[in-house]
Amino acid sequence: VETKTLKDQGYNLPLGLLKDGSLRKPFTFKPYTMAEDKAIARRIDSFGDGAPESVKVSFVLSQLLINLGGEDVSELEQGKRDLKVFGLGFGDIMYAYLMARVESLGPEVRFPSVCPWCEQAFTFDGDLLSVEVLTTEDPTELTKVVDLSVPWKVRGISATRVLLRPTPWGICHGKSVTPAEFQAQMYQGAIIGVDDKDPGSEDPITEIAMSPLDIDTLPKRLVNELDGAVNDLNGGPRLRLTTKCPHDGCGRPVTRPLPWGFDSFFG
Ligand SMILES: [Zn+2]
Repeated sequence: VETKTLKDQGYNLPLGLLKDGSLRKPFTFKPYTMAEDKAIARRIDSFGDGAPESVKVSFVLSQLLINLGGEDVSELEQGKRDLKVFGLGFGDIMYAYLMARVESLGPEVRFPSVCPWCEQAFTFDGDLLSVEVLTTEDPTELTKVVDLSVPWKVRGISATRVLLRPTPWGICHGKSVTPAEFQAQMYQGAIIGVDDKDPGSEDPITEIAMSPLDIDTLPKRLVNELDGAVNDLNGGPRLRLTTKCPHDGCGRPVTRPLPWGFDSFFG
C-alpha cells in the first residue's frame, strides 16, 4: 500500500480490476463537451430532488468512461457499462469520479470556509490534484485476514477471524441511507468470510457472503477495530483538502472535507 496524490496517480485506478493475476488500472474519459455537459445535467435533473449521490456518481462515470482497466467500454450498451462500474471498488469509483471533475472542469475547488485558528472567514481554494490517494500494485493486498479481539457470534459459530476485501461499489449504489446504514453496507460488502480458528492461524478462511442480518449482529466494538483495515483495503482518495489560511499573520494549514456531491462539484 502506498500513498500518492491525484497528480501522481493520474488516469490509473488506485486498486484496479484483477485480471490474470494482475491489477488493470488505466482508464480514459470521452471529451467533456458542452453537449456532454447538457446531457448529464438533464439526466441528473430527471433523478429529482433527494436522489442518492451514489446514483449521480455512477451515472457520471457510466456516461464518461470509454476505457476501463484497459478494456474499451464505449460500445457497450448502458446497462452493461453500468455493471462494469458497479463491479469497481468503492475507492476506485471515488477516484475516477474526482478525475472526471478534474478532466471536465479543472482541479480547482472553491467554497466558503472559516479558519479554525484565527476564526476569520475566507474562500477555501483547494487543488484536487493534491488529494491523497491510497494505492496498491499487489493483488495479494486486496484481501486481508483480521483477528477479532472478542468472538462474533454469527452463522452458528463463534467467529475469531474475518476475511476482508474492498467493498464493491454496487453494494452501496442506489439507496438513500443514513450514515449508520451506509457503514453497515460497507461492512456487508467488505466481510467475505469468517471462521473460529485460532487467531494468527495460517489456514485460509472459507468464503461466506454476509447478509444485512448477519452484519446487524456485528458488535459495534469490532466495527471500530475493523475500521482501519476496511478503509485501507478500500483504498482510493482521502476525501479532504488542505490549504493555507490567506489572512495576514495567520497562514496556518486548514483541512476540510471535500465537498464532492454532484451539485457542489459539477454545478
Ligand atoms: Zn487563519
